[in-house]
Amino acid sequence: MSTRFHKFGLALLLLLVAAGAQAEIKYVLLFIGDGFGPAQRELTETLLGRKLMMSTLPTAARTGTDNYGGTVTDSAASGTAIACGVKTNNGVIGMDHELRPVASLAARLKERGFKVGLVSSSPLNDATPAAHYAHQPSRSMLDEIAAEIPATGVDYLGGAALAGNAEASYAMLQDNGYTVIAANDALTRLPDSDKVYAVAQPFTRWTTEQASSRPTLAEHTRAAIAQLYNPDGFFLMVENGHTDYAGHSNDAGKLIHEVVALDEAVQAGLAFQALHPQETLLIVTADHETGGLNIDQMKAALLPLLRLQKQEIGAIAGEARQRLKDSKLTTAAGLVEFFEDQLGLAQQPFTAVERQTVITALGGTDADQSGLAEHLDDGLRAAFRCRDARLGIAYTTGGHSGAKIITNAAGPGCELFAEPLENSDIPQRIEKAMSQHAD
Ligand SMILES: [Zn+2]
Repeated sequence: MSTRFHKFGLALLLLLVAAGAQAEIKYVLLFIGDGFGPAQRELTETLLGRKLMMSTLPTAARTGTDNYGGTVTDSAASGTAIACGVKTNNGVIGMDHELRPVASLAARLKERGFKVGLVSSSPLNDATPAAHYAHQPSRSMLDEIAAEIPATGVDYLGGAALAGNAEASYAMLQDNGYTVIAANDALTRLPDSDKVYAVAQPFTRWTTEQASSRPTLAEHTRAAIAQLYNPDGFFLMVENGHTDYAGHSNDAGKLIHEVVALDEAVQAGLAFQALHPQETLLIVTADHETGGLNIDQMKAALLPLLRLQKQEIGAIAGEARQRLKDSKLTTAAGLVEFFEDQLGLAQQPFTAVERQTVITALGGTDADQSGLAEHLDDGLRAAFRCRDARLGIAYTTGGHSGAKIITNAAGPGCELFAEPLENSDIPQRIEKAMSQHAD
């Protein structure tokens, strides 16, 4: 072989290597923790004694979430910012502040031949997923939002059921060629076709032994990726809405499990990225913080107490209410004991002061069953606050806060996700990364 040919061969090889490094971004994975701020992340990481996978991604940027008016956002305005790249008013889905429809990144990618998938533990016509396909002045227009799924051509939906008139919406989807499988084992029965909705409420494990017939958010993520994977590319959004529910109910015990569930879904995304590193951009973000969680005085050594909580606050309230109704609980003292048991404080019972705080919130020692039922939620919240105070953590609101959240990114173009970042920058930067890493 001549030297000249060798040189040509080397040049060709270098060209191929360069082309490989400049491979097109074909897979965009966007993970959203609803109501998931830096304090929620740090609390969970301190308890685990390790970083979450999402915190090990190459870039991290504090991200502003304020709405168009510069005030605290809701999931509709922030969902629209993340999906469509515009700041809008609270309650508005996929429209700007003058109610002009704005195309989402998902819709634009769909037009370029990408498949689009949405997975959430919140209803798939709730604000965060809705912003990727719908354009409505109010997030409460649930049926109108669901009706827009076919027009945007969402290829795959997985997770929670639809809210609103769900049965009519499923019939509408089926009329538009969707296969709707509503069953706990839906993921094992996915058809080999486009346009699928796997309705199976994601299950979040509270202990490693806990099993369920329902799939986890990570299992939903893997199923969605398998269903969407194709040579022309896909966009997948995965949301855990329950991090937000934990914040609204000031339930740190639920929160830590939901954060881990989100991180396990991120791990499923990273496993896919490891197979397609040059072609996959993976983003983890949040729409806002919920609960105003303050961890400044956090006592790291005591945090494992959160793992002893038996069920989420709403379930504890429901069980207590039933026991009052059935006269299995009749006194404030009995309720306090029940709360202690549910919070896993049997070995470390309430102090006299804590006990008095909870009893006062329940209406005092003389409260009768109907009085106890009336003040049940106040008493239970007091019990949670006493537990949290031991841990040096405190919620400051039942609503959203204006705290900046963190956006992590990995993959080609991830360096574009640097500070300063606003939530509305996210889709533009994804598109910029895609144009920089185009053929
Ligand atoms: Zn919320």
